[in-house]
Amino acid sequence: MIALAIPSGGHISTGRKDFSGTAGLVHGLQVDYFAFDKEEMNIDVDKTKEKVKEIIKVNESELKMAMFGGSMFLFPHPINDLRDFFTEHGVFICYDSAHVSGLIAGGEFQDPLREGVQAMTLSTHKTLPGPQGGTVLSFNKYSDQIKKAVFPGNTSNHHLHSVAAKAIVFAEMIEFGREYASQTVKNAKALAEALHDKGLRLLGEKNGFTQSHQMAVDISEQGDGGTLEKDLENANIIANRQLLPGDIQAGRHYMHPGGLRFGVQEITRLGMRESEMIEVADLITKIIIGKEDPKNIKQKVTDFRKDFQKVHYAFEDSRAAYDYLKIRTI
Ligand SMILES: *Cc1c(COP(=O)(O)O)cnc(C)c1O
Repeated sequence: MIALAIPSGGHISTGRKDFSGTAGLVHGLQVDYFAFDKEEMNIDVDKTKEKVKEIIKVNESELKMAMFGGSMFLFPHPINDLRDFFTEHGVFICYDSAHVSGLIAGGEFQDPLREGVQAMTLSTHKTLPGPQGGTVLSFNKYSDQIKKAVFPGNTSNHHLHSVAAKAIVFAEMIEFGREYASQTVKNAKALAEALHDKGLRLLGEKNGFTQSHQMAVDISEQGDGGTLEKDLENANIIANRQLLPGDIQAGRHYMHPGGLRFGVQEITRLGMRESEMIEVADLITKIIIGKEDPKNIKQKVTDFRKDFQKVHYAFEDSRAAYDYLKIRTI
């Protein structure tokens, strides 16, 4: 299969055996990487085509699947530019929407199944604000193969305890998804701009930093991702350390990478909007640039957070989601 390399935003589930990636280590797949343009922060279409032709030349049937999607995922992937090429070469096209499924549900980012992928996997707990779980969306003609791969290939039982909660989050997305996804992307752009204005180096500047819920920050001048992640956490600010393109070549490691990744889906659901992002950026940069003691910032974060206790883009009472579904099916 071909997928994104981890420093380009790929996830460990599509990683190679030599990096303990699940696809390689558990499923025995050989994984190659999309060519990635770090200025665009996206897949390089022309170089990927050259690479795929090279792979196929070596062994006619070797490339079986292309997996779009990723964990550091700032801009929509070029499905439209690669779909026909992959189809002509007999490559099955998948899209891992774990991170962006709530944005897709809300009509933001991109629409992979309509753009031509054959299957799309998703998490129900990232930008889709539900209980933890996963889903595979595809077309009827692939259903038997997918069912067989899921059971017994990957899982045994299904998890009934969270089915009702998933139904509710889907109903909430039908009712509030557009508004939630749209505000999430606006907030991400606002926070990215604010962090940039305060002196941090953000990736994807050429394309306006982000079109998703995330932003990637190169903090290699201020420290390392592992230490700063911990400093932020000590101030009650949760972010992820992130390997960036070029980190491996620079001798950096995933424990202490050159980047941090921030997402705004959670604070958006708590009702924050663009104006709050300025304040969030201020708290973040007090630690990363100002090197203030996280213990002092923690109190400021707690005070700031006091005004945002209610979950938004949700039904007001526990019956409404069930009633809503009943109305929809009549
Ligand atoms: C988080 C993530 C996963 C794993 O999903 P879980 O449902 O959290 O196990 C898979 N792929 C990508 C791209 C992810 O970001």
